[in-house]
Amino acid sequence: MSRAVFDFDNSYASLPARFFSQLAPEPVAAPQLIRLNEALAETLGLDAAALASPEGVAVLAGNAVPEGAASIATVYAGHQFGHFVPQLGDGRAWLLGEVVGRDGVRYDVQLKGSGRTPYSRGGDGRAPLGPVLREYVVSEAMASLGVPTTRSLAAVASGEHVLRQQRLPGAVLTRVAQSHIRVGTFEYFAARGDTEGLERLLAHVIERHYPEARDADDPALALLERVVARQAELVARWQLLGFIHGVMNTDNMLVSGETIDFGPCAFMDGFDAAQVYSSIDHAGRYAYRNQPAIAAWNLASLASALLPLSKADSEESAVQAARERIERFEARFIAAYRDGLRRKLGLLETRDDDDALCDALLEAMQRSSADFTLTFRWLTDLAAPSADRPLAGVYELPAALTPWIDRWRARLADEPADSETRHAAMRAVNPAIIPRNHLVEQLIAAAIDEGDFGPFHRLVDALAEPYADVARAAELLAPPRPGEIVQQTFCGT
Ligand code: AMP
Ligand code: MG
Repeated sequence: MSRAVFDFDNSYASLPARFFSQLAPEPVAAPQLIRLNEALAETLGLDAAALASPEGVAVLAGNAVPEGAASIATVYAGHQFGHFVPQLGDGRAWLLGEVVGRDGVRYDVQLKGSGRTPYSRGGDGRAPLGPVLREYVVSEAMASLGVPTTRSLAAVASGEHVLRQQRLPGAVLTRVAQSHIRVGTFEYFAARGDTEGLERLLAHVIERHYPEARDADDPALALLERVVARQAELVARWQLLGFIHGVMNTDNMLVSGETIDFGPCAFMDGFDAAQVYSSIDHAGRYAYRNQPAIAAWNLASLASALLPLSKADSEESAVQAARERIERFEARFIAAYRDGLRRKLGLLETRDDDDALCDALLEAMQRSSADFTLTFRWLTDLAAPSADRPLAGVYELPAALTPWIDRWRARLADEPADSETRHAAMRAVNPAIIPRNHLVEQLIAAAIDEGDFGPFHRLVDALAEPYADVARAAELLAPPRPGEIVQQTFCGT
């Protein structure tokens, strides 16, 4: 690039050589920019115009390596569907480098789909266009919804095909994260008995994400405690939005507490606590209702990996202390989730029966398969001072919810807040628009079959303001028609 776009400040690459492999990405045939996230570029302090130039796109495609790049693929391990795999790693991802944003936060800039690495196993190191568009849409939606998440800086078409069940167009995604350090990164060193490696990783993570834990009596336990807290908050956010991650393996859980890996993920349409979309999740391990318990299970894996670093007097007391930290997950999750549910219903004060009221709504929604997102948005409209019903014609609330609404109204009468305040508070937590599965499928089909990226851009643009007024295209708000319902999602990697 003629202009230096990246002012790299790499830290992970200065860890010992066994933490990663140094390598260059494999160039693609004919890179073409699909979308650049200019707002994110701005946050990162990057020159968007330079990134969109042919030289910039060459970097975003992995065809040119700018000066100062870290140029590494990292190694990690992970429990996949409960089974430990001692070595995974960035099989198709490549760390361009780290930059410190205008917000003072350090970010990884990583290419995904950039070619083979020593961790590719049988894979080709590439990414098909569909999953790249899905990740762009959903990760940016999560950010706009206020959920901690990895971001998408750019999507570039590779001008090449990748071979899956069929020949598909390829693409490269530029992913941005506060770091890509996973529970599985700790598991990798722990499984090899590499305590020195674990110590280096712990020090790096504390410095980078939890500097306040530096002076704790037992830094490893202090880290565990903080990761537990962030994951509890994160999974509560997912539950409150009807988001199903789909593949909560420990290699897909970041110690920074950001959502990562948008493979078979999905937002629920009709509410069903047992909902599973992922085609490979046969036992429903990662069903909606299991997500909190699975997060705690993953954190117990992190605890095991951290045990050798504990400063406790004996192994038993280290185990006991770690167990106590893990047990705090549940209380922390429930508090965040219950508080969030109350806010979704406009209950700004707390009453004894509120949890029962919330549960009664979820039970009625489950029985009537009420649309998760639009039920809460409908209630938001009901709480408005005006009698406008912006969702009329888009969605009809199941009649089975009427008795519950009467009960809720009686409870609202006991709230001191005026209806304007309540309505504004509800609108701020109940989105009108989410990346519905059928819309994501449709935009992928349009891009692949017709080279039409219009639906992709339209949805990304609309999702930038998910809580705003609904005076927008109804087809982006409405639940799927019967023929449009997506029953299964695929990693598609
Ligand atoms: P994921 O399902 O995306 O979490 O990936 C699980 C593991 O498989 C990670 O180590 C990835 O790097 C690797 N992987 C996924 N897709 C590919 C691919 N196309 N080529 C090489 N490695 C891959
Ligand atoms: Mg992964």
